[in-house]
Amino acid sequence: MATNVKTCSICQDEIVDPRPLPCIHSFCLDCLGQHCRGKLPGDDMPCPECRHEFQIPQNGIEGLTARSHNKEEGHSSDGTILV
Ligand SMILES: [Zn+2]
Ligand SMILES: [Zn+2]
Repeated sequence: MATNVKTCSICQDEIVDPRPLPCIHSFCLDCLGQHCRGKLPGDDMPCPECRHEFQIPQNGIEGLTARSHNKEEGHSSDGTILV
């Protein structure tokens, strides 16, 4: 059983079009989409597996990539620095 194929813990099947979360868990794009139904981009979501929260990218679940750089909180959208 030493396959290199990762299993999605939502559908318990081989991951299709994997989308990795910042917590390193990966899920099918479709499964995450279902999991996030009712959520909006920018909302926080717990990982279905470890409950580690991640933020839904502005372009949605499809925007999740291997590189997570969502540490951009803390400054307001108009660039004003709040002390
Ligand atoms: Zn799945
Ligand atoms: Zn996780």
